[in-house]
Amino acid sequence: MNYAIELNGVVKRFGDFGAVNGVDLVIPVGQRCALLGPNGAGKTTLLNLISGRLSLSGGKIVIAGHDVSRSSARQRAQLGVGRSFQKTNIFPQLSLLENVRLGVQNRAGWSNWNPLKAAASNRACNESAERWLRRVNIRRPKDAQASELSYGEQRQLELAITLATQPQIVLLDEPTAGMSHAETAVILDLMAELLEGLTVVIVEHDLSVVDRIAHRVVVLERGSIICDGTPAEVKADTRVQSAYLKGAHRA
Ligand code: ADP
Ligand code: MG
Repeated sequence: MNYAIELNGVVKRFGDFGAVNGVDLVIPVGQRCALLGPNGAGKTTLLNLISGRLSLSGGKIVIAGHDVSRSSARQRAQLGVGRSFQKTNIFPQLSLLENVRLGVQNRAGWSNWNPLKAAASNRACNESAERWLRRVNIRRPKDAQASELSYGEQRQLELAITLATQPQIVLLDEPTAGMSHAETAVILDLMAELLEGLTVVIVEHDLSVVDRIAHRVVVLERGSIICDGTPAEVKADTRVQSAYLKGAHRA
């Protein structure tokens, strides 16, 4: 079995406070894993530890067979880790095309930019960016400014930027947070189509999204895994129901 992500005794402390307290989690290539848990459970921290945005306090992280415990976010991106975004992370003053071009240029390999081939690579870069813009289905001119987009469209643009980096592993932090039902339906259809075959870790509170996207659900509470199984298994777990799901429905 090939593993995309292997977490061994992963710990993150902020001062005296343990945000992630010894997480063991192995995610096979191509699996889509949802992270659930109440606010403050350590979900975002765990994504940041995987992407390299935060450094470990203890334990080990292996990505695609490489020990990245002490690697930078950039080195992990070169192993195929797509950036995780806590909130909308686009450049509002740039055009839609320029935003997606940033993703294309961040792709592993494009950093070896050759000025002698600049014109050709510039064209290829634009074509790739246009293709991703079409795939996320934003019905606006490519030279429109990103600031003109609705909130839902901004998240579609963000998905295009992330996927344009051609990641093998996609980390998504609450991609439907703050969206209307209609906007959620649009992004959900796009994710179902565009994440196919990729390894995904997605923090998501909306159980309809989890059911549609995730093969597996891992529930975190106070920095530890309290449940791990299929979406149906996790929903049937009484500990999860009392610890989390009732609260989630109230929210
Ligand atoms: P979740 O995403 O599950 O809501 P987080 O991972 O954001 O939770 O946070 C887990 C805990 O760690 C929270 O109690 C939060 O206040 C704390 N925390 C997160 N980031 C920091 C930080 N940079 N400094 C101090 N405490 C932090
Ligand atoms: Mg969070």
